[in-house]
Amino acid sequence: MRLTVLGKSPSWQDADGACSGYLIEEEGTAVLLDCGNGVFSKLRRFRDYTTVDAVVISHLHADHFLDLVPFSYALTYAPRQQPMPVDRWPGTETPARPKLYAPEGAQELFRRIVGSWGNDDLVDNAFEIHEFGPSDELEAGSLRFRFQDVPHFTRTFAIEISSMNGGGRITYGADCSPNEELVQFARGTDLLIVEATLPRPERTGIRGHLTPEEAADHACRAGVKRVLLTHVSDELDEMWVRRCASRMFKGPIDIAREGAVYYPDEAIVDEPVAAGV
Ligand SMILES: [Zn+2]
Ligand SMILES: [Zn+2]
Repeated sequence: MRLTVLGKSPSWQDADGACSGYLIEEEGTAVLLDCGNGVFSKLRRFRDYTTVDAVVISHLHADHFLDLVPFSYALTYAPRQQPMPVDRWPGTETPARPKLYAPEGAQELFRRIVGSWGNDDLVDNAFEIHEFGPSDELEAGSLRFRFQDVPHFTRTFAIEISSMNGGGRITYGADCSPNEELVQFARGTDLLIVEATLPRPERTGIRGHLTPEEAADHACRAGVKRVLLTHVSDELDEMWVRRCASRMFKGPIDIAREGAVYYPDEAIVDEPVAAGV
Protein backbone atom coordinates (compact mmCIF):
# COMPACT_ATOMS: atom_id res chain seq x y z
CA MET A 1 0.00 0.00 0.00
CA ARG A 2 1.32 3.41 -0.94
CA LEU A 3 0.10 6.79 0.29
CA THR A 4 0.90 10.04 -1.52
CA VAL A 5 0.20 13.38 0.13
CA LEU A 6 -1.61 15.48 -2.49
CA GLY A 7 -2.66 18.32 -0.21
CA LYS A 8 -2.17 19.08 3.46
CA SER A 9 -3.17 22.74 3.96
CA PRO A 10 -5.73 23.66 6.63
CA SER A 11 -8.93 25.43 5.50
CA TRP A 12 -6.96 28.03 3.53
CA GLN A 13 -4.36 26.92 1.04
CA ASP A 14 -0.59 27.22 1.42
CA ALA A 15 1.14 29.19 -1.33
CA ASP A 16 0.86 26.85 -4.35
CA GLY A 17 -0.74 24.31 -2.04
CA ALA A 18 -3.88 22.25 -1.74
CA CYS A 19 -6.18 21.40 1.15
CA SER A 20 -6.69 17.83 2.41
CA GLY A 21 -6.18 15.04 -0.12
CA TYR A 22 -4.30 11.72 0.05
CA LEU A 23 -3.94 9.19 -2.73
CA ILE A 24 -3.86 5.55 -1.61
CA GLU A 25 -2.82 2.91 -4.11
CA GLU A 26 -2.31 -0.83 -4.01
CA GLU A 27 -2.02 -3.23 -6.94
CA GLY A 28 -3.96 -1.21 -9.48
CA THR A 29 -6.55 0.09 -7.02
CA ALA A 30 -6.58 3.83 -6.35
CA VAL A 31 -8.61 5.63 -3.71
CA LEU A 32 -8.62 9.35 -3.03
CA LEU A 33 -9.05 10.14 0.64
CA ASP A 34 -10.64 13.61 0.91
CA CYS A 35 -10.75 16.05 -2.00
CA GLY A 36 -10.28 19.58 -0.69
CA ASN A 37 -9.72 22.69 -2.75
CA GLY A 38 -6.65 22.36 -4.98
CA VAL A 39 -6.50 18.55 -4.72
CA PHE A 40 -7.81 17.73 -8.21
CA SER A 41 -4.90 19.53 -9.87
CA LYS A 42 -2.39 17.76 -7.58
CA LEU A 43 -4.03 14.39 -8.26
CA ARG A 44 -3.35 14.88 -11.96
CA ARG A 45 0.40 14.99 -11.32
CA PHE A 46 0.32 11.44 -9.97
CA ARG A 47 -2.62 9.56 -11.46
CA ASP A 48 -5.05 9.61 -14.37
CA TYR A 49 -8.26 10.71 -12.64
CA THR A 50 -10.36 8.30 -14.72
CA THR A 51 -8.51 5.41 -13.04
CA VAL A 52 -9.48 6.45 -9.49
CA ASP A 53 -11.77 3.69 -8.21
CA ALA A 54 -13.27 5.58 -5.29
CA VAL A 55 -13.20 8.83 -3.34
CA VAL A 56 -13.83 8.72 0.42
CA ILE A 57 -14.77 11.95 2.23
CA SER A 58 -14.16 12.26 5.99
CA HIS A 59 -16.51 15.17 6.64
CA LEU A 60 -18.45 17.88 4.87
CA HIS A 61 -16.17 20.87 5.33
CA ALA A 62 -15.10 22.73 2.19
CA ASP A 63 -11.39 22.02 2.65
CA HIS A 64 -12.16 18.27 2.50
CA PHE A 65 -14.56 18.06 -0.45
CA LEU A 66 -14.62 21.24 -2.56
CA ASP A 67 -12.57 19.86 -5.48
CA LEU A 68 -15.29 17.28 -6.11
CA VAL A 69 -16.69 20.11 -8.24
CA PRO A 70 -13.84 20.31 -10.81
CA PHE A 71 -13.41 16.52 -10.56
CA SER A 72 -17.09 16.17 -11.53
CA TYR A 73 -16.69 18.60 -14.43
CA ALA A 74 -13.71 16.59 -15.73
CA LEU A 75 -15.65 13.32 -15.52
CA THR A 76 -18.54 15.00 -17.33
CA TYR A 77 -16.92 17.12 -20.03
CA ALA A 78 -13.43 15.76 -20.74
CA PRO A 79 -13.43 14.67 -24.42
CA ARG A 80 -12.43 11.10 -23.56
CA GLN A 81 -15.35 10.93 -21.13
CA GLN A 82 -17.91 11.59 -23.83
CA PRO A 83 -20.11 8.53 -24.45
CA MET A 84 -19.70 7.10 -27.96
CA PRO A 85 -22.52 5.44 -29.93
CA VAL A 86 -21.49 1.80 -29.57
CA ASP A 87 -22.99 0.84 -32.95
CA ARG A 88 -20.52 3.18 -34.66
CA TRP A 89 -17.54 2.51 -32.38
CA PRO A 90 -17.93 -1.05 -31.08
CA GLY A 91 -15.84 -1.83 -28.05
CA THR A 92 -15.67 1.80 -26.97
CA GLU A 93 -15.05 2.07 -23.28
CA THR A 94 -17.80 3.57 -21.17
CA PRO A 95 -16.88 6.77 -19.33
CA ALA A 96 -15.35 6.38 -15.87
CA ARG A 97 -17.77 6.88 -12.98
CA PRO A 98 -15.87 6.40 -9.71
CA LYS A 99 -17.61 5.57 -6.44
CA LEU A 100 -17.95 8.44 -3.99
CA TYR A 101 -18.36 7.53 -0.32
CA ALA A 102 -19.36 10.41 1.96
CA PRO A 103 -21.13 10.91 5.31
CA GLU A 104 -24.91 10.92 5.54
CA GLY A 105 -26.40 14.11 4.13
CA ALA A 106 -23.62 14.53 1.55
CA GLN A 107 -25.73 13.97 -1.55
CA GLU A 108 -28.20 16.67 -0.54
CA LEU A 109 -25.38 19.09 0.33
CA PHE A 110 -23.60 18.53 -3.02
CA ARG A 111 -26.90 19.12 -4.85
CA ARG A 112 -27.39 22.40 -2.97
CA ILE A 113 -23.89 23.63 -3.76
CA VAL A 114 -23.81 22.89 -7.50
CA GLY A 115 -27.55 23.64 -7.68
CA SER A 116 -26.82 27.23 -6.69
CA TRP A 117 -25.73 27.80 -10.33
CA GLY A 118 -28.21 25.34 -11.83
CA ASN A 119 -26.08 22.17 -12.05
CA ASP A 120 -27.99 20.19 -9.40
CA ASP A 121 -27.07 16.71 -10.57
CA LEU A 122 -23.45 17.40 -11.60
CA VAL A 123 -21.88 15.37 -8.77
CA ASP A 124 -24.63 12.68 -8.82
CA ASN A 125 -24.03 12.02 -12.51
CA ALA A 126 -20.24 12.12 -12.34
CA PHE A 127 -19.89 9.76 -9.37
CA GLU A 128 -21.76 6.77 -7.98
CA ILE A 129 -22.57 8.24 -4.57
CA HIS A 130 -22.94 6.12 -1.44
CA GLU A 131 -23.49 7.65 2.00
CA PHE A 132 -21.89 5.80 4.91
CA GLY A 133 -22.38 5.58 8.65
CA PRO A 134 -20.01 4.64 11.49
CA SER A 135 -20.73 0.89 11.36
CA ASP A 136 -20.16 0.51 7.62
CA GLU A 137 -17.10 -1.22 6.19
CA LEU A 138 -16.10 -0.57 2.62
CA GLU A 139 -13.80 -2.37 0.26
CA ALA A 140 -12.01 -1.21 -2.87
CA GLY A 141 -9.77 -3.85 -4.43
CA SER A 142 -7.50 -5.07 -1.65
CA LEU A 143 -8.19 -2.06 0.57
CA ARG A 144 -10.65 -2.08 3.45
CA PHE A 145 -12.08 1.07 5.07
CA ARG A 146 -13.54 1.44 8.57
CA PHE A 147 -14.91 4.57 10.27
CA GLN A 148 -14.96 6.14 13.72
CA ASP A 149 -16.89 9.23 14.84
CA VAL A 150 -14.56 11.92 16.17
CA PRO A 151 -15.54 15.27 17.70
CA HIS A 152 -15.30 18.28 15.36
CA PHE A 153 -17.54 21.20 14.33
CA THR A 154 -19.60 18.95 12.04
CA ARG A 155 -20.07 15.18 11.91
CA THR A 156 -16.64 13.79 11.15
CA PHE A 157 -15.16 10.33 10.71
CA ALA A 158 -11.65 9.12 11.35
CA ILE A 159 -10.90 6.53 8.68
CA GLU A 160 -8.83 3.35 8.83
CA ILE A 161 -7.42 2.01 5.59
CA SER A 162 -6.00 -1.48 5.84
CA SER A 163 -4.47 -3.66 3.17
CA MET A 164 -5.88 -7.16 2.91
CA ASN A 165 -2.60 -8.14 1.21
CA GLY A 166 -0.35 -7.40 4.17
CA GLY A 167 0.45 -3.90 2.93
CA GLY A 168 -0.05 -2.30 6.33
CA ARG A 169 -2.58 -0.08 8.03
CA ILE A 170 -3.14 3.68 7.94
CA THR A 171 -5.36 5.60 10.35
CA TYR A 172 -6.47 9.07 9.30
CA GLY A 173 -7.80 11.25 12.11
CA ALA A 174 -9.51 13.75 9.77
CA ASP A 175 -10.16 16.96 11.77
CA CYS A 176 -10.87 16.57 15.48
CA SER A 177 -10.60 18.05 18.96
CA PRO A 178 -8.78 16.07 21.68
CA ASN A 179 -10.56 12.75 22.15
CA GLU A 180 -10.21 9.17 23.31
CA GLU A 181 -12.04 7.62 20.32
CA LEU A 182 -9.16 8.26 17.91
CA VAL A 183 -6.68 6.79 20.41
CA GLN A 184 -8.65 3.54 20.59
CA PHE A 185 -9.32 3.44 16.85
CA ALA A 186 -5.64 4.03 15.95
CA ARG A 187 -4.20 1.58 18.50
CA GLY A 188 -0.95 0.12 17.11
CA THR A 189 -1.46 1.45 13.58
CA ASP A 190 1.48 1.66 11.18
CA LEU A 191 0.89 5.27 10.19
CA LEU A 192 -1.31 7.78 12.00
CA ILE A 193 -2.18 10.86 9.94
CA VAL A 194 -3.34 13.42 12.46
CA GLU A 195 -4.07 17.12 12.22
CA ALA A 196 -1.88 19.59 14.13
CA THR A 197 -3.68 22.75 13.08
CA LEU A 198 -3.41 25.11 16.02
CA PRO A 199 -0.55 27.11 17.47
CA ARG A 200 -2.61 27.18 20.70
CA PRO A 201 -6.05 25.89 21.74
CA GLU A 202 -9.00 27.82 20.29
CA ARG A 203 -9.40 31.22 21.96
CA THR A 204 -13.19 30.75 22.05
CA GLY A 205 -12.77 27.73 24.29
CA ILE A 206 -14.85 25.66 21.86
CA ARG A 207 -12.53 22.90 20.71
CA GLY A 208 -12.48 21.51 17.16
CA HIS A 209 -8.81 21.03 16.30
CA LEU A 210 -5.49 19.92 17.81
CA THR A 211 -2.18 21.57 18.63
CA PRO A 212 1.04 19.71 17.68
CA GLU A 213 1.46 18.54 21.31
CA GLU A 214 -2.09 17.23 21.40
CA ALA A 215 -1.70 15.49 18.04
CA ALA A 216 1.51 13.80 19.17
CA ASP A 217 -0.11 12.88 22.49
CA HIS A 218 -2.76 10.93 20.57
CA ALA A 219 0.03 9.12 18.68
CA CYS A 220 1.79 8.28 21.96
CA ARG A 221 -1.35 7.02 23.72
CA ALA A 222 -2.31 4.92 20.71
CA GLY A 223 1.18 3.39 20.47
CA VAL A 224 1.43 4.05 16.74
CA LYS A 225 4.58 3.20 14.76
CA ARG A 226 4.84 6.50 12.89
CA VAL A 227 2.96 9.81 12.95
CA LEU A 228 2.34 12.19 10.07
CA LEU A 229 1.24 15.65 11.24
CA THR A 230 -0.98 17.39 8.74
CA HIS A 231 -3.43 20.29 8.23
CA VAL A 232 -0.50 22.54 9.23
CA SER A 233 -0.40 25.94 7.56
CA ASP A 234 2.77 27.14 5.83
CA GLU A 235 2.32 30.20 8.05
CA LEU A 236 3.49 28.12 11.02
CA ASP A 237 7.14 27.29 11.69
CA GLU A 238 7.65 23.62 10.83
CA MET A 239 10.59 23.31 13.22
CA TRP A 240 8.43 24.62 16.04
CA VAL A 241 5.69 22.12 15.16
CA ARG A 242 8.22 19.27 15.21
CA ARG A 243 9.75 20.43 18.52
CA CYS A 244 6.33 20.59 20.18
CA ALA A 245 5.33 17.16 18.88
CA SER A 246 8.60 15.50 19.86
CA ARG A 247 7.95 16.32 23.51
CA MET A 248 4.96 13.96 23.44
CA PHE A 249 5.88 11.23 20.92
CA LYS A 250 9.27 9.54 20.78
CA GLY A 251 8.73 7.58 17.53
CA PRO A 252 9.23 8.89 13.98
CA ILE A 253 7.43 12.19 13.32
CA ASP A 254 6.85 13.65 9.85
CA ILE A 255 5.24 16.91 8.87
CA ALA A 256 3.09 16.39 5.76
CA ARG A 257 4.50 17.72 2.49
CA GLU A 258 2.81 17.59 -0.85
CA GLY A 259 4.28 14.81 -2.94
CA ALA A 260 5.69 12.81 -0.01
CA VAL A 261 5.07 9.07 -0.38
CA TYR A 262 4.64 6.54 2.44
CA TYR A 263 4.70 2.74 2.44
CA PRO A 264 3.23 2.08 5.90
CA ASP A 265 4.22 -1.60 6.13
CA GLU A 266 7.86 -0.91 5.30
CA ALA A 267 8.31 2.39 7.14
CA ILE A 268 9.72 3.86 3.93
CA VAL A 269 9.28 7.53 3.20
CA ASP A 270 10.09 9.15 -0.13
CA GLU A 271 10.39 12.89 0.00
CA PRO A 272 8.96 14.85 -2.94
CA VAL A 273 11.29 14.73 -5.92
CA ALA A 274 9.98 17.41 -8.27
CA ALA A 275 10.54 21.03 -7.27
CA GLY A 276 7.39 22.60 -5.95
CA VAL A 277 5.42 19.35 -5.71
ZN1 LIG B 1 -13.12 20.29 9.32
ZN1 LIG C 1 -9.99 20.62 7.56
